[in-house]
Amino acid sequence: MIDTRILKGASLAKRLRAEIATAKAHLIELDGHAPVLATLLVGENGPAQAYRASIDRTFQRVEIEHRHVELPTTTSSSELEAAVEELNNNDEITGILVLMPLPGHLDPHLILEHLSPLKDVDGITPTNAGRLHLGLPSLRPSTPAGGLELLDFFNVNLEGSRVTVIGRSNVVGRPMATLLTQRHATVTLCHRRTVNLAGEVRRADVVCIAAGSPGLVTADMVKPGAIVLDFGVNVSSHGTIVGDADYENLLGVAGAITPVPGGTGPVTALVLARNTLAAGFATLQGTLDNVLFDLPDRLQPSTEDSPLS
Ligand code: ADP
Repeated sequence: MIDTRILKGASLAKRLRAEIATAKAHLIELDGHAPVLATLLVGENGPAQAYRASIDRTFQRVEIEHRHVELPTTTSSSELEAAVEELNNNDEITGILVLMPLPGHLDPHLILEHLSPLKDVDGITPTNAGRLHLGLPSLRPSTPAGGLELLDFFNVNLEGSRVTVIGRSNVVGRPMATLLTQRHATVTLCHRRTVNLAGEVRRADVVCIAAGSPGLVTADMVKPGAIVLDFGVNVSSHGTIVGDADYENLLGVAGAITPVPGGTGPVTALVLARNTLAAGFATLQGTLDNVLFDLPDRLQPSTEDSPLS
């Protein structure tokens, strides 16, 4: 029986809050005004509102203003475009997050073309996503960036290790896979049409799950001693929040596991806060080229061993 290590976000959160306090003071000194994150919600949506509530709690704690912008469900594409442009042009607003999912009649891709890359705190615009995949400094999606930081915080070895990522969304699975290959892991990216998910998970030293499917990864699928990073946030039939992994049965099998809630979640909202500050610096400088302050020195790409090769 393995003594499974519980990877709690709270341990890293303390360090992130300290980093945020320092960066915030520096930004205010340079910029002359306090940073503000605007989250835009169209209509009513349970998961989007729950995520916004968690942003509220985190931002209150780190003392960064979080402004709620609301549009009715009936908002048209051109009205949404105009609302995003207005936030782009509003000097008071440092970062912008459009809460997903949008009502069915609105194409989420619309946002991608209209959001300013310098205010794009979740790294979803083609500019930030492209820069991430090219290994250039960028604003990176908070969930995978936080997940990677959690693995680093607990000294999980990535170089040369086999990692299976489940889920290929543009905000979690796919960027997570990219970040991991840049850290020299050998990555398998699984999705709904993967033929033998259990087999792909079984080979992995590290399993990252972002599928939105409770109980998807069971104890018999995981190699004893493997690390399990669970990004899933699902509401169970009892109304509690559960992840995508069968947490209880993985205790004693996994080498380490993130609990849900309390694992990756607290880190995501803090990385969003830090991204808001990074967006503030990027806007001041008019470029994304220096958005590297969230990478520890040892992780900066070196010329001899390029993460792009
Ligand atoms: P998120 O925003 O958390 O990444 P999405 O709903 O956008 O969530 O994406 C879910 C991803 O998970 C998709 O890429 C989908 O292919 C993958 N996925 C969902 N269910 C399964 C499953 N049963 N097996 C493998 N992959 C799955």
